[in-house]
Amino acid sequence: METMEATFGINVFNDFVMRERLPKETYRALHKTIDDGRRLDAQVASVVANAMKDWAIERGATHYTHWFQPLNSVTAEKHDAFITPVTGGKVINEFSGKELVRGEADASSLPSGGLRSTFEARGYTAWDPTSYAFIKDHTLCIPTAYCSYSGDALDKKTPLLRSMEAINRQAVRVLKLFGRNDATRVTPSVGPEQEYFLVDKKLYDQRSDLIFAGRTLFGAPAPKGQELGDHFFGTIKPRVQAFMTELNEELWKLGVLAKTEHNETAPAQHEMAPIYATVNVACDHNQLTMEIMKKVAGRHGLMCLLNEKPFEGVNGSGKHNNWSLTTNTGYNLLEPGDSPHESAQFLLFLVSVIKAVDEHQDMLRASVASAGNDHRLGGFEAPPAIISIFLGDELTEILQALDTGRDYSGREKADMTIGVHMLPKFPRDTTDRNRTSPFAFTGNKFEFRSLGSSASISTANVVLNTIVAESLRQFADELEGAENFQEALHDLIIRNIREHRRIIFNGNNYAPEWITEAEKRGLLRLDSTVDALPCYTAEKNIRLFATHRVLSESELKSRRDIGLDSYAKMIGIEAKTMLMMARRQILPAVIRYTGEMAEAGNRLRQYTPALPQRAAESLVSRLCAGCEELGQRIEELSEVMACSPKDAEPLTEARYMRDQVMPAMRKLRKVADEMESITDRKAWPFPTYDELLFNV
Ligand code: ADP
Ligand code: MG
Repeated sequence: METMEATFGINVFNDFVMRERLPKETYRALHKTIDDGRRLDAQVASVVANAMKDWAIERGATHYTHWFQPLNSVTAEKHDAFITPVTGGKVINEFSGKELVRGEADASSLPSGGLRSTFEARGYTAWDPTSYAFIKDHTLCIPTAYCSYSGDALDKKTPLLRSMEAINRQAVRVLKLFGRNDATRVTPSVGPEQEYFLVDKKLYDQRSDLIFAGRTLFGAPAPKGQELGDHFFGTIKPRVQAFMTELNEELWKLGVLAKTEHNETAPAQHEMAPIYATVNVACDHNQLTMEIMKKVAGRHGLMCLLNEKPFEGVNGSGKHNNWSLTTNTGYNLLEPGDSPHESAQFLLFLVSVIKAVDEHQDMLRASVASAGNDHRLGGFEAPPAIISIFLGDELTEILQALDTGRDYSGREKADMTIGVHMLPKFPRDTTDRNRTSPFAFTGNKFEFRSLGSSASISTANVVLNTIVAESLRQFADELEGAENFQEALHDLIIRNIREHRRIIFNGNNYAPEWITEAEKRGLLRLDSTVDALPCYTAEKNIRLFATHRVLSESELKSRRDIGLDSYAKMIGIEAKTMLMMARRQILPAVIRYTGEMAEAGNRLRQYTPALPQRAAESLVSRLCAGCEELGQRIEELSEVMACSPKDAEPLTEARYMRDQVMPAMRKLRKVADEMESITDRKAWPFPTYDELLFNV
């Protein structure tokens, strides 16, 4: 077997390969493009394309594709063979610079949210040279951005790249103020932890809800859930281990730094965390990770569930987005430094995040909104729908001390001036960290924990980068004009601590008291996707994204509408799936079983005392009542679905789904689950929770 070191990145056209295969000049020019975010010269592109093609063909590729990320959170690819016909009925392999740099995509079926009318359906794709090309399934994949001909972003990569530019611009301005002219580029680094469930494929195939909705829409709880806490970090079962081993091998070949693997809280739930990377690469790699997880699971007779809430009653799955800012000189701007100078700079960046999160709670909440994630946020298992920051006691005390001019013990400390004194050391604790907070400072990075497990991490990072860019812009504006930098810095930090103190909460975010407290503090509570997504087009947010040239008003509106539309469609699919299962599987099964039990009861008539007969009668009467209610609930849901608004605004449709359809779904589920718990296991038409959760 080849060693991991030998196979790592073997399917990636990475820097190592480029240096080996490109002429020095071309390599240098390409690097300049990558490092400085410049435009690629046509001649350079053509040399790169040729080298890339030769490399890919040597590695068994026959096709190439511009690999992009449309607005529906998955990835899209259209394969083209390298072949070009030549005279004599032969073909040669060709791949030009033009084909590398730019492609056309007639993608009229992909969502555009009104940005592109169908008569001009074509969009174009453009290579993102900061993310390496790779080979997957005999196809050279070129990571690309996807835009309409008028330049509107139709994908998740374009705004992410723009937001990286935005935060770079502002962070570099701030660093200049600290005399750090050596750092000419600042990029967000992200390590996304990915949670998922594994279930047996044979069982999965018997459940229409898993097939169509990705989550169970019926199911009585198993006798055992996660209450013993014996799954988290537990011994990994051989079948799961075999899956994880192969997953790692596949990801490593693609250059994904898969690092940590473990069992998660719920039975059948697991996690994979990679080593962090530049945010757009982290995003591409996370998309690949989700795809490879599903593929590898299939080879092990498993299905990988990425839905945010596959099972009721046990934890759902999320994605923890660990985020920090790195300079091209290798410095983490969220790392508390060792000198007074570094401490002041750290505090400024820290406060820029605090201000950003407080002022743009709405956008952060909206950035993680989806039908699936709504079942998680606010359940007592995942961060609530209310955004707040966990700083930890030490750092909170330091901010308090700065604010009041007193040290820890409460003594007056007149000279607690920022930039003059070092920050007291605070331990980077990893043991008793608050895991209930949606947004936690974890020593040298922030961990945004509200992301859903199936979502692209792009949207959340676009928002994060842009809102912090906005704080830094305001800070730079103020400080650049200051007469005395030290004094101005001191004032600015203290003023911002005071103004944004309300967003800091170190307590238990799952406690019901927190909701009351958060409301008292005036923090936003946006419980559902329907509440959250309209924020995209709030006046303040249109201005924010325009200022930093990340998203235009129409681009924001398209994202809002696509989000609401998918929400409504998803719930529609779920409701229709429930009706199908209830009508064609559950109700017939319960009626059949009721008849069987009634007959059995009759047969017992001759016996005295009549106790078994009475038991049968009591069961039959419960089943009969259940059948009747089941029938009613089916009709109710069916009626509500029939009345759903047609061709209405996405917001109207989404609202109807949340307020009318979902309650009817819940009622139907309730009675069906009750019936499941009194029906013979052999008579139940599909596998139940205990089988699904404990069978792998
Ligand atoms: P946890 O205890 O939450 O699992 P880990 O220390 O395992 O935390 O880190 C989780 C993720 O955070 C990993 O993907 C890791 O690479 C990433 N990470 C670590 N340092 C940074 C950083 N400075 N910036 C961004 N991500 C980071
Ligand atoms: Mg974590």
